Amino acid sequence: MALFSAGTLAQAQSRAASPEADLILVNGRILTVDAKDSVAEAVGIAGGRIVAVGSNSEVKKRAANQAHVIDLRGRTATPGLIDTHCHFQEVAALYDMDLSDPSIRQLSDVVKRVQQKVAAAQPGAWVRGSGWDEGKLAELRYIYAADLDRVSPNNPVWLMHTTGHYGVANSYAMKLAGIARGTKDPPAGTIDRDRENNPTGVLKESAKDLVTARIPAHSHEEQRNGLLKIIADFNREGMTGVKDPGIGPGEWSLYRELHAQGKLTVRVFTLFLAGTTVDSARQTLRTLASLPRPPQSFDGRLLAGGVKIFMDGSGGARTAWMHQQWNKNSTGEDTGNYGYPALDPAIFRQQVKMFHDAGIHISTHAVGDRAIDWVVDSYAAALQSKPTRGLRHGIIHCNIPTDHAIEAMAKLQKQYDAGYPESQAPFMWWIGDNYAGNLGPERCLRLIPFRTYLAKGIQWGGGSDYSVTPFPARYGLWASVVRRPMRGVYGTQPFGVAEGIDIHAALRSYTIWAAHQLFQEDRIGSIEPGKEADIAVWDRDLYTMPTDEIPHIKCELALVGGRIVYRAEDAHVTVR
Ligand SMILES: [Zn+2]
Repeated sequence: MALFSAGTLAQAQSRAASPEADLILVNGRILTVDAKDSVAEAVGIAGGRIVAVGSNSEVKKRAANQAHVIDLRGRTATPGLIDTHCHFQEVAALYDMDLSDPSIRQLSDVVKRVQQKVAAAQPGAWVRGSGWDEGKLAELRYIYAADLDRVSPNNPVWLMHTTGHYGVANSYAMKLAGIARGTKDPPAGTIDRDRENNPTGVLKESAKDLVTARIPAHSHEEQRNGLLKIIADFNREGMTGVKDPGIGPGEWSLYRELHAQGKLTVRVFTLFLAGTTVDSARQTLRTLASLPRPPQSFDGRLLAGGVKIFMDGSGGARTAWMHQQWNKNSTGEDTGNYGYPALDPAIFRQQVKMFHDAGIHISTHAVGDRAIDWVVDSYAAALQSKPTRGLRHGIIHCNIPTDHAIEAMAKLQKQYDAGYPESQAPFMWWIGDNYAGNLGPERCLRLIPFRTYLAKGIQWGGGSDYSVTPFPARYGLWASVVRRPMRGVYGTQPFGVAEGIDIHAALRSYTIWAAHQLFQEDRIGSIEPGKEADIAVWDRDLYTMPTDEIPHIKCELALVGGRIVYRAEDAHVTVR
């Protein structure tokens, strides 16, 4: 013993304990995202776990004779990318009308698609679509029932907005739902009306349920296909982990089914919906009580992670709960509209206390500044009454936090490992024109303040909120840096550049910081010995390439737990 220094002994032990690599990646630029942001040349993997990271010669020394070799030929590898907020399903993309198609530039383009779909449908059958956004239409206004009625007199139509917080029904669908001139707004919902007080067809928040509850659900087979599609599409984008917000027992059993069949090549951390009442929250608590608590999981692939609560609505619908009234068309005022909470704020506080006291992780949807304040203060109160480190309560979206909320999050993170924004930089791009119009010029500058987070030591998780924005993480990496809206209706840089960050921090938010919000930072999120080999290989080097090309990077190879789950047909890298 005395012959060895402590360091040498530790090294010798780790060498003896870790097996020879059965797979090595060589000749690359490995962006490890370790604490020092090191860049290496090669990685050694044994039984799906990383055992060596370093130079080619260091790693080759650790390889078994028969080891498989992936020659990166100068390509760049990163940890597999993780989305901390994605509605993980492509069933609508497979079976419904896609109105997010960039070729849709005006209202008549939408009407034409509906007309085609109606022509192929039986009279009376539902026609559904999703993904529209008035910020991208030349008319810069909602689609109304009157726009649709002409082409759909004998079919109910429902077109969901890209945010999922509102949509438009035609008159046939409104009739089925019993919505007429005299119908009152349901709690936490808005039936949009014209000057004569007639419903326009646009239904926001809980009001949309009046129609959507009548649309037949997709079959099990369709949902299974939609889930298999997004798993494959994630892998194709170098994405290997996701936090799925807002599932119920049905989605959970579908996950269990795919997991049992070995088809879950994306690690999934789920949040169960808590509902809007104390009773609904109790029900969710009972469901979760029978499932393993994070970081325990079904072999690292599936976690019953915690609960999702909605505090407010959407920045697109101007229903998010604000301290100041909403704007309209940037400088116009939406007089008297401050948005509203999605549930009684006092009940929210009770729900938080109930879950927190039971040791359950909570992520709450909060877009408006007033909603965010209420959420962080509720977390702080629960943590003060029962101090518990490591539950990582999240603030989903966290779009325009006040100075108070920012200070509170910094404090909660340090003191309790809680209070993490789960943010979507692509909002600034995909629905950026809509947002710029609704927030107005002053508030826009405070939207998603990443630079301030860095200055305050606040860590966040990146994400897409798919199907609100497209899920490929390359868009979010880019948007985190440039903060530019798609069309520039209210200027090319309405959100300013002061809160932009560099690609190093952006990558962190989609890797190791995201892994932390999945309770998996000891298992994934960086390329370091001891971690599972979730690795993405790219055609370009994120750290040195021109920023404006980041949305166009291509994944060549994706590994999950050391297994190749995607390989591009024209990949430059070789595998033997
Ligand atoms: Zn969402």
